Amino acid sequence: MTAFDTKLKNDHCFIDGNWVPPVDGQKIELFDPSFGTKLCDIAQGTSEDIDLAVDAAQNALDGDWGQMTAAERGRLISKIGMEILNRIDWLAELEARDVGKPLTQARNDAIALARYMEFYGGAADKIHGQTIPYMQGYNVYTLREPHGVTGHIVPWNYPMQIIGRSVGAALTMGNACVLKPAEEACLTALAFAKIADECGLPKGALNVVPGYGHEAGAALTSHKGVNHISFTGSVATGVKVQQAASENIVPVTLELGGKSPQIVFNDADIDRALPFLVNAGIQNAGQTCSAASRILVERGVYDDVVNRMSEAYRKLSVGPAMGDHSLGPLVSKRQKEIVEGFLSAAETGDITISAQGHFTDDLPEDGAYVLPTLLKDVSPDHPLAKDEIFGPVQVIIPFDGEEEAISIANGTDYGLVAGVWTENGGRQMRMAKAIKSGQIFINNYGAGGGVELPFGGHGKSGHGREKGFEALYGFSTLKTVANWHG
Ligand code: NDP
Repeated sequence: MTAFDTKLKNDHCFIDGNWVPPVDGQKIELFDPSFGTKLCDIAQGTSEDIDLAVDAAQNALDGDWGQMTAAERGRLISKIGMEILNRIDWLAELEARDVGKPLTQARNDAIALARYMEFYGGAADKIHGQTIPYMQGYNVYTLREPHGVTGHIVPWNYPMQIIGRSVGAALTMGNACVLKPAEEACLTALAFAKIADECGLPKGALNVVPGYGHEAGAALTSHKGVNHISFTGSVATGVKVQQAASENIVPVTLELGGKSPQIVFNDADIDRALPFLVNAGIQNAGQTCSAASRILVERGVYDDVVNRMSEAYRKLSVGPAMGDHSLGPLVSKRQKEIVEGFLSAAETGDITISAQGHFTDDLPEDGAYVLPTLLKDVSPDHPLAKDEIFGPVQVIIPFDGEEEAISIANGTDYGLVAGVWTENGGRQMRMAKAIKSGQIFINNYGAGGGVELPFGGHGKSGHGREKGFEALYGFSTLKTVANWHG
């Protein structure tokens, strides 16, 4: 790949405004999941690199970065967003090659990253404290202040979007960030740091340490110099992150995925619903925390929805990311094995495969490819209907009436996003209240979308909110000042 060979120091960390090799000199091999071939090396950062990064972040807070006004930070963050737009082709190619995301989807992620910076850049000087009426002789007011050093553990499925929503918001509030991207997906994190640096971000305000989760990630989440942690990933790792943070009494935002339903009632506008039902399951090959992996359909329109979704599935093509097919490969062979494990459970049980997509003729043999698969007549209690698969697999579950729809929708450990399709206004409001979920879309669905829309989970989907203005409250702390003036 020519693009990043010349422009990116892919086997370095970015610490204190400098591109530095990891302290112990170790590297990790990165593979292109479209072909299964080696792409490049990246740095294998360890606790020593994390120590340097946290020190650099603290120095930035004590130095130029900490002195900047909200308006100055906002202008700088907006500038970074503009520069991201100028380099979209580069970023999209990096992401497509690194994680196997079809080029158009990778491009959309780069646009979303720019949009986060644009949104947060504009918001930087619009977050105010309050004045509070109190006793005679007092002026009382609140100050919104940064936490200090924030740690960001970002997964491989949407690196650019998740960097935008967490690092973008944290920088806006004046925090200094240490970012540990997933080892399978760190090229756009490094590219983001390069762009921010070239736009004039003061040194140390953003530091990137690639490496393994159990080494660099664990060192970051347990570091005594870190004042807030933002984590997106699996429940199992989320538990470890929360445990580590609790040792230091540090606030944590956890975004741990889901098993999100879209619920289609008999009176739904099926023509409008259809693309939302399918796309929200196969986007990014189903490796989306808010994927609509469960489609609940009222019995009166069940056969119609199954038939129309199946027809759409048969048209889905799967091939190399740079070929820009409907789906690319999964991020890695490891992820392919996880998804194939779920699918083999479907084959041995009494579940019907309603439809699958097709591979392109020239499919590389060693790529991490899986066919998008639509399963029908799935019992709500089956593991395929309860567990997060994180691949292009959707299950269709029939139901009768509102009560049963709510019971099935709320019948998993998760609660991230839900979609409801009905023309009945009263039912729209009842469903919005009854479903346990961080976001509810009525007659639309936005898997991963909506820079402006607060986002986060219930139950095992996690806690805390990112995106929108809520993220700015989350990445800041409130100080109350009671000033007696006599
Ligand atoms: P993980 O939760 O293990 O990885 C997510 C991030 O956490 C990565 O950056 C990882 O680094 C890091 N990490 C791993 N271990 C630690 C640790 N002990 N301390 C701090 N950070 C750590 O997910 P996997 O990549 O293993 O994927 C497994 C499953 O997780 C998927 O099949 C999917 O179900 C789910 N998942 C959900 C995501 C979501 O958006 N909700 C995103 C990704 C996965 P590294 O990768 O370098 O080890």
